[in-house]
Amino acid sequence: MVQIRVRGQVQGVGFRPFVWQLAQRFSLRGEVWNDAEGVLIRAAGTGLERFVAAIEAEAPPLSQVDAVEVTSTRFEMPDGFIIAASGDAGAETRVTPDAATCADCIEEIAGDGRRRGYAFTNCTNCGPRFTILHALPYDRAQTTMAPFEMCADCRAEYEDPGDRRFHAQPIACPACGPQLALHPPDTDPLIGAVGRLKTGEIVAIKGLGGYHLACDATDAVAIQTLRRRKRRPSKPLALMGTAAMVASYASPSAAEMTRLRDPAAPILLLPRGALALPDDLAPGIDRLGWMLPYTPLNHLLLQAVERPLVMTSGNLSGEPQVIGDEEAREKLIGIADAFLSHNRAIARRLDDSVERITRQGPMILRRARGQVPGTLLLPEGFADAPDVVAYGAHLKSAICLTKNGQALLSHHLGDLDDALTVEEFEKADRDYAALFDHRPAAVACDLHPDYRSSRHAAGRGLPLVEVQHHHAHLAACLGENGWPRDGGQVAGIVLDGLGLGTDGTVWGGEILLGDYRGFDRVAWLAPAPLLGGDAAAKEPWRVALARLDEAGEGARAEAMLAGKPLETLRRAAACGLNAPLSSSAGRLFDAVAAMLDLCRDRQSYEGEAAMRLETLALGPDGQEARTAGTPGYLFGEGQVIGVATMLQTLLRDLDAGVSLGRIAARFHKGLAEAFALRARALVEEGRAEAVALSGGVFQNALLLDLTVEALGDVPVLLHRKVPANDGGLALGQALVAQARLEAG
Ligand code: ZN
Ligand code: ZN
Ligand code: FE
Repeated sequence: MVQIRVRGQVQGVGFRPFVWQLAQRFSLRGEVWNDAEGVLIRAAGTGLERFVAAIEAEAPPLSQVDAVEVTSTRFEMPDGFIIAASGDAGAETRVTPDAATCADCIEEIAGDGRRRGYAFTNCTNCGPRFTILHALPYDRAQTTMAPFEMCADCRAEYEDPGDRRFHAQPIACPACGPQLALHPPDTDPLIGAVGRLKTGEIVAIKGLGGYHLACDATDAVAIQTLRRRKRRPSKPLALMGTAAMVASYASPSAAEMTRLRDPAAPILLLPRGALALPDDLAPGIDRLGWMLPYTPLNHLLLQAVERPLVMTSGNLSGEPQVIGDEEAREKLIGIADAFLSHNRAIARRLDDSVERITRQGPMILRRARGQVPGTLLLPEGFADAPDVVAYGAHLKSAICLTKNGQALLSHHLGDLDDALTVEEFEKADRDYAALFDHRPAAVACDLHPDYRSSRHAAGRGLPLVEVQHHHAHLAACLGENGWPRDGGQVAGIVLDGLGLGTDGTVWGGEILLGDYRGFDRVAWLAPAPLLGGDAAAKEPWRVALARLDEAGEGARAEAMLAGKPLETLRRAAACGLNAPLSSSAGRLFDAVAAMLDLCRDRQSYEGEAAMRLETLALGPDGQEARTAGTPGYLFGEGQVIGVATMLQTLLRDLDAGVSLGRIAARFHKGLAEAFALRARALVEEGRAEAVALSGGVFQNALLLDLTVEALGDVPVLLHRKVPANDGGLALGQALVAQARLEAG
């Protein structure tokens, strides 16, 4: 007789019926139930060993088994094997992320059964979870499925441990479940919406975690209309296509195809393929974001439209994605020609996740639907640390909660300069705290006192730990790599946008030597003024001017940036007016992009200039410069990494008519080498155990590759599970806070 404790993501994923079926197979007696720690099994019989092995080997698709612990025990044996009721209220503590429609359900929708063509088909192995959940435990009454009373057929499936819908909370069928609606109405909502999409109209479509705006991705006019109406001039638009469409319009590798097919169904950035699509989908960028259909409605739409669809989030520029039906009508009326909606409410707003697979492995750019509320195991040494909540920074905001040796990083909440996003942020804080019964002992936030997130943290009335922005980036990278609390010092190369430094200047191109508790700033990019403050991040010519002046190329600035108010800015900078000094690597990318005439006047979204520069460097002209034989542009030596001589070489190449792709590639390479060589030396001198790469600039796959290459054989820690950008920051803040609180 044994007791088996299963830990991990094992609730709401069909684990108990799975165990029940295994018990039948091995003719065991006993019972299984859920409790606060996961799943508990008591079993007796001759096939026990094989039973235990099968629990891990054959676990249900959406489960994640962290541990199976077997202890011998004595108990009163029931007849046969039973699924027992869960323990007390609050016993079920886990909810899994939303999952893409499974193969069985797709087949059922296409078949002749009662769910033929039904847009809300789901089962234990797929369907909505976190987006329909109001409160834990995860039970139909606590979801937005509560108003739908199960019909007798659904009820029978729900109660049958042998059925794949046993205890599938969102179970539904056309007789009892949610229904589609089209506005303006049509005889059949789906057929009506398909007709509109095929004729170039824009349809707002209610999805799992919010509304999308959809149009025909092969129709250049429809795309232009969408861009104009949404006031989104150039930010890339996400696409949805069947696997066959993705294979012809993009060129996914086997690994990329596998990732697309994952139940998390992220948007994956993929190189363009054999069949061309309108350039307007992502102007100046060599890759497009693709996802596979992940709801039955998505499948039905694509099948009928027979071409890929633009599926961009349904929101007004800068605002959070719309989830309410009335709100959608109100806000999207000027953008969408029609609304394909339904009567299952969305409890929780979740954007689509965005990922990329690079030569260095997977990369997460935006962590949302399909990823949350997944947890990360805290590294060794943090198990007994006090529970904390961390509030991130300003852009790509996310919250992190720690509890029971786990970190829960919230979904992507957006940039906090929009009032509605701030509201959303505050709501998410209350929501996560309530869901996970979280009572933090302390809060963590950025060093910048004026961020909305910092003010929110200060308002909690709990002990407050302020964490330097790039230290938090470093700690986030350490944390996701399971770096032990006492694992020693690491050299962090943090290449980033902007973050307040401990010296009052704005950092962002740093080598920090440190651990969770603290750090030394050992090297950084030579600072240049951000002319015009915040405007400098939006208008690359401003940082180009600062860098050119600094390199003694003032005359060239006048030629290159004719018509700009150069003298006013120079005078302001000379008196230190609205011109904070910054070592930001992101802004250096902007400056170089502007010199190559990319987004010189303005970038319409964060990272546009850098992404275009990466695209140039990855093109055919950059090829030779990317290889080992060609040196990168040489940056200055010493603790302050000089930029002036690098720029002079770059400008000479520009004058000599060297191709822009080659210049862009040599810039990437030089920057990678400048930082890698310094960090590598720290390891070789025995001052650091490893090198960690973090900060938003490392979303640049070429820069990441070149840096890893230049680091050679020293141990390197990369981001794979949480974003290298500010979306991962809260995890680092939480760990720093815990380490500091522990140290007393
Ligand atoms: Zn299914
Ligand atoms: Zn039903
Ligand atoms: Fe950052």
